[in-house]
Amino acid sequence: MKKIVMKFGGTSVATGKNIRHVANLIAKYVNQDYRIVAVVSALDGVTDKLIEAAEQAKKGNRDYIYEFKQKIFEKHLIAAKEAIEKERIQEEMEQILKTTIDELEKVLKGIIYVGELTPKSRDSVLSFGERLSTPIVCGALRDLELDAQFYTGGEVGIVTDSNFGEAIPLMNLTKHQVKEKIDPLLEKGTVLVVTGFIAATQDGITTTLGRGGSDYTATIIGAALAADEVWIWTDVDGLMTSDPKIVPSAKMLPELSFQEATEMTIFGAKAMHPRALEPAIEENIPVRIRNTFNPENPGTLLVKEQRIKLGEIVKAVTLIKSVALVNVSGAGMVGAPGTAAKVFDALGRNNINILMISQSVSEANISFVIKRSLLEKAVSTLEIALLGKGLIREVTTEDDICVVAVVGAGMKGTPGVASRIFTAIAKKGINVRMIAQGSSELNISFVVKETDGEEAVRAIHEEFELDKI
Ligand code: ADP
Ligand code: ASP
Ligand code: MG
Repeated sequence: MKKIVMKFGGTSVATGKNIRHVANLIAKYVNQDYRIVAVVSALDGVTDKLIEAAEQAKKGNRDYIYEFKQKIFEKHLIAAKEAIEKERIQEEMEQILKTTIDELEKVLKGIIYVGELTPKSRDSVLSFGERLSTPIVCGALRDLELDAQFYTGGEVGIVTDSNFGEAIPLMNLTKHQVKEKIDPLLEKGTVLVVTGFIAATQDGITTTLGRGGSDYTATIIGAALAADEVWIWTDVDGLMTSDPKIVPSAKMLPELSFQEATEMTIFGAKAMHPRALEPAIEENIPVRIRNTFNPENPGTLLVKEQRIKLGEIVKAVTLIKSVALVNVSGAGMVGAPGTAAKVFDALGRNNINILMISQSVSEANISFVIKRSLLEKAVSTLEIALLGKGLIREVTTEDDICVVAVVGAGMKGTPGVASRIFTAIAKKGINVRMIAQGSSELNISFVVKETDGEEAVRAIHEEFELDKI
């Protein structure tokens, strides 16, 4: 008997028909005597719509919220009716959806009344995507005569700090609680359906783990239960040599080390939460990335042991969009020890995570890349902390850039990789704005104009013949 945590992403549960397909897939494994925890994302695109609704509520846009409420209810009701055949379960579902939507409306109205959107109330709004999708998946499983129950992440015991929007799980307590809650239910043969992405503080306040956080929920639960494997079901066959939407000839990678996969996900592959693999690495639980719509394919297996195959220097090339470049400069920085520390300390204290750093030898400037959504906050943080103190003269930014990352364990100690990369880029007439190589030598990443990003990715994919692996 195998214990598997299965995560279904937004596209896997995009419509009622897809949800029905997911339920059948789960049922197939239950019949093979698997014990299953299903972690479910919001229906495709719903989290983005909730972000917009929260913003509109802050602006006091009542009409928008009224219409939004109707639309979101209908979307889920249609999905439920498509996914579930039995009338009794359909009616039950309609009731659950109504109650949940009413609660969402109350939260949005609260935001309208106070005219303020805090990270805490934003997380509350965002949690509704998963709170609406999970009962429907559960209903579809019951429709197939399975014993299924749905829970929120908080209800199964995932506790986090109160860093709303990007909350960090308190792993010791979480592991203990999740195991206590879930194991007895699995032993009874219950299929658990758990909301991805959302958790709670120790006081029971709703938090979210950050975008793409459902992957993280799955590995947290997998680690807590010492599951045999965690399966991340998505809309592509596995982790690929590049995003198939950019490079149609991209190939699936059958096996990757956790380290390489982490490097890839941090740099944008599969929109996976950058910390999602941490719990699996810690407990050494294999993770498989698989295609919901092509379940015969075994997918990509992520494991501890690195197996470098000869001739495989570069494994993948990824693209991160929605980022911005910040350049801090000033003659006062030259030979002034501790400048970088001051810059990064100020940013760190304001929860601004840095993706990439480079400093020129002249020391007269430091450039770094952050998420575009944090750009305003970063600039004001630096201005308040550092400007006018003789160290820094200017903070400039560019928000129309993207990062291309080239990943592969075989790059370590192989000379000439960088020159091949940048020759391929130069041949396309693409200008490189900034370069960084991690000391792990697992990746080389560089910044180009956003409009050049996809072409740069294709040029590198071609140069290393990644479609021929
Ligand atoms: P889900 O909704 O299942 O969480 P995501 O949108 O988070 O799915 O991630 C899946 C998508 O990631 C794919 O549809 C694909 O376009 C994109 N992607 C980008 N880079 C890669 C890569 N290297 N390998 C696989 N998928 C990738
Ligand atoms: N629904 C959340 C998001 O869109 C979490 C996830 O899908 O992983 O980011
Ligand atoms: Mg995702």
